[in-house]
Amino acid sequence: MSRPARPSNASSWLSVELGGGRVAWMRRVPSRRARRLRLSVEPEGVLRLTLPPRVASRSVERFLAESRGWIIARLAELDALGARRAPLKVGVGDEFLLRGRPWPLVWRVSAEPRLLSQPGWLELHVARLNDAELPLARSLLRDFLSAELRRDALRIGRKLAARLGVAPAALRIRPLRSLWGSLSAARRMSLDLALIHAPPAVLHYVIAHELAHLKIRSHSSRFWQLVAELDPEFEHAREWIRSQGIRLKAELYRLLGSPSAKEGPGEAMPLRFARGWARS
Ligand SMILES: [Zn+2]
Repeated sequence: MSRPARPSNASSWLSVELGGGRVAWMRRVPSRRARRLRLSVEPEGVLRLTLPPRVASRSVERFLAESRGWIIARLAELDALGARRAPLKVGVGDEFLLRGRPWPLVWRVSAEPRLLSQPGWLELHVARLNDAELPLARSLLRDFLSAELRRDALRIGRKLAARLGVAPAALRIRPLRSLWGSLSAARRMSLDLALIHAPPAVLHYVIAHELAHLKIRSHSSRFWQLVAELDPEFEHAREWIRSQGIRLKAELYRLLGSPSAKEGPGEAMPLRFARGWARS
């Protein structure tokens, strides 16, 4: 289990005592549009406190004191789901979810940094087993996961679109903060990269859902009928994603780093380094 590191910029963070010597840190997010104080747990186990304008510090203190039991329960849930695992570390063998199954990841020292997909495991080749290689390793991993998800999504999407008689204009894959997928007004479909960790039935459902929006924008009963025609097992997958979906996002954040807190839902994750490195 990994805990969020003690933050360096103290003014944007608050702490709350959980009892028994445990302290939880939370990100303080002032919002002009917020109407009330709001506390949420992000998939990487970080707490987020949204503050409306001109809120009294006494109200914040009382709210946090009253929320203590809620915080403890949510963090325990994340732990029970296995969502709060240690972040990816250079040189430390790892195991991550690929299409719902555990997939080993091993490190190799090599003059040619690259990611090799072996039957049953992944090899990350880096110049040195040093933390400085982490951005490059993450970038290689991100390219790999994106390509795998794109392949799966196109295969499922083409089949379903043929049955539906309409297809999206484009497919975009990226880490999404709070969404699983979306369909723009220009009929571009976006999918959360974290879906590469999901069992295939879950990906199938999310794609069926977004494609059904090509015909029916609302979540009306007609819409759900159409989803059921495309995916008769969808209710099972929908329930899975509601109860366990946070694991998928946590897994992606653990491997690639969290999206910036400043970005709204659906913004791309910042990976500053080595986007230009090609996989051989
Ligand atoms: Zn929808």
